[in-house]
Amino acid sequence: MHTGPAGRADAYTPEESLVPGTFERLLQHVPAAFAVTRGEQHTLVFANAEFRTLVAPFTDPLLLDRPIAAAFARRDATGLTVILDRAFRTGVVARSRRVDPADESAFPLLCSVWPELADGEPQHLVIELRTATHAEVTLEIQREVAERLLLSALRERDSADAAEAAKRSANFLAQESRRLAESLDEKETLAAMGRMALPYVGDWCIVDTLDEDGAMHRLVMHPDPAKHHILESLHGLWVPQADDEFGLPAAMRLRQPLVIADAVDEVLSTAARNPVVDKSLREIGIGPLLTVPLVIRDRLIGALTFVSGRDDRPFTTADIKLAEDLANRSATALDRARAFGEAIALKDKAETASLAKSTFLGMMSHELRTPLNAIGGYVDLIDMELHGPVTAAQHKDLGRIRTNQRYLTGLITDLLNLTRVGSGHLTYSIGDIGAAEMLAAGVALVEPLISQRELFYDGIECEDDVVARGDREKVIQILVNLLSNAIKFTVPGGRIRISCNATGQVVLINVRDTGIGIPEEKLGAIFEPFVQVKGGSLSPESGVGLGLSISRSLARNMDGDLTVVSTLGQGSCFTLSLPRSAAEPQSAE
Ligand code: ADP
Repeated sequence: MHTGPAGRADAYTPEESLVPGTFERLLQHVPAAFAVTRGEQHTLVFANAEFRTLVAPFTDPLLLDRPIAAAFARRDATGLTVILDRAFRTGVVARSRRVDPADESAFPLLCSVWPELADGEPQHLVIELRTATHAEVTLEIQREVAERLLLSALRERDSADAAEAAKRSANFLAQESRRLAESLDEKETLAAMGRMALPYVGDWCIVDTLDEDGAMHRLVMHPDPAKHHILESLHGLWVPQADDEFGLPAAMRLRQPLVIADAVDEVLSTAARNPVVDKSLREIGIGPLLTVPLVIRDRLIGALTFVSGRDDRPFTTADIKLAEDLANRSATALDRARAFGEAIALKDKAETASLAKSTFLGMMSHELRTPLNAIGGYVDLIDMELHGPVTAAQHKDLGRIRTNQRYLTGLITDLLNLTRVGSGHLTYSIGDIGAAEMLAAGVALVEPLISQRELFYDGIECEDDVVARGDREKVIQILVNLLSNAIKFTVPGGRIRISCNATGQVVLINVRDTGIGIPEEKLGAIFEPFVQVKGGSLSPESGVGLGLSISRSLARNMDGDLTVVSTLGQGSCFTLSLPRSAAEPQSAE
């Protein structure tokens, strides 16, 4: 390995250098600075005249037998020591290495070193020093600058590559997350999950999912349409099996990312369990596998498996990190899509049930009303004695039949109304309604009942020019229902008062009574169909709990509302709000 200085080192031996001889005498006077050191301390054993002049012009020749660094009076010996150390250690020649001066005014030196081996081990170093020329120094500086530039360019390229990769993966994740977030359909979500994985991790991808019943499903995606077609044909044929070494079964066992880089063919063949599947997988091309679990709220809901091409590089730590990130986002999206799917299914079920109920109620009410009307008609015929004389007791019973017939007819009318209001089939003829006149018409329908129940009626308190928007018939229907309740739930001697006022864009109609009141916890429920306050009934002909539900639906369908304020034992105030007519001047407030 060793080579000496051309033409000289061959004739030179360390021993000779220590014993003055021809070679040393020659070296003493060559017009170049030569020195010889010994051992790893680089003990100076020879330095020619030129060397002494160059390095230590004023130092004593007795510097011999001391480390060469000591000879460097005006120079930084550290650089030289590094060069000598390396040459001694490696036995490799160093040529024209720069040694900077400690004193900046001095010129740098160029140093060449030839290690001298004995028994294969370096023992001596032959050192040549010369002052670098101006051109050489400039060249050296240029080389250094170029080296630094090159190094920093390489570093920058590395960091630019890393930044570019990070940006690409961030963009990609952001874009795909958006796509995932937009999709609420489970199938769509699964496809989006596969799609988003394809361009960045692996070559193709397997999406396994675990449903609520513990059943495993598999979806396979390939960016190449022809290969995707082959994989699609495996649908139902290739499903996850409990002892598979990758995919959902592996994720169930490990709950963490798993890379299979060796014997992938075997792993897939075992998992294929079918020659058709095995053949198809081979056609697609299989390489290293990376499985990441899909976990949401500590619950495993599936796994993504990325499959590399046969000759692809193995998965890197960055790939695994990206895959995990994709899996997290996918799990969230899948969970949301499932929840949405369940909510839609429940809503569909509820709507179907509600529709069936309304249809049934509508049909039943209609079918019942006809015979009930007939019963009423025949009761009247008998009561009028058109078919012969009727005894007093029979008249009384006929009266009871009529009361019950009317009660049933009213009930059925309510049911029919409810189904009509609920189904949205009811038509509304919206117009301006003079509030005072409309209230008077409503009260007229129930006034006889007020006196029958020995209640005090405080009349209507309403400005003449208050005009509401709504369907007059339906507003009267609501009013009659509110008044009937006020009459029903107020004990004799109580009071009933109606008032109306317009505020801003709204007309408010209040029906007040000093009746039994409604418990606070029931104030919301009484507007639900068939809800009645237990023990609240004061009259035998109380209804079935549909009146308020129908009234509120009617009010809301006219852009109004129906609310209540009540104190148990003191009375209630029901307020019907309706839009105020635009034609009405605001000064009426
Ligand atoms: P119904 O009067 O046929 O029972 P509603 O829907 O009209 O059905 O009323 C539901 C329930 O609300 C009533 O059964 C009653 O318990 C309560 N309620 C309604 N109006 C009043 C009122 N003015 N005072 C006290 N309770 C009332």
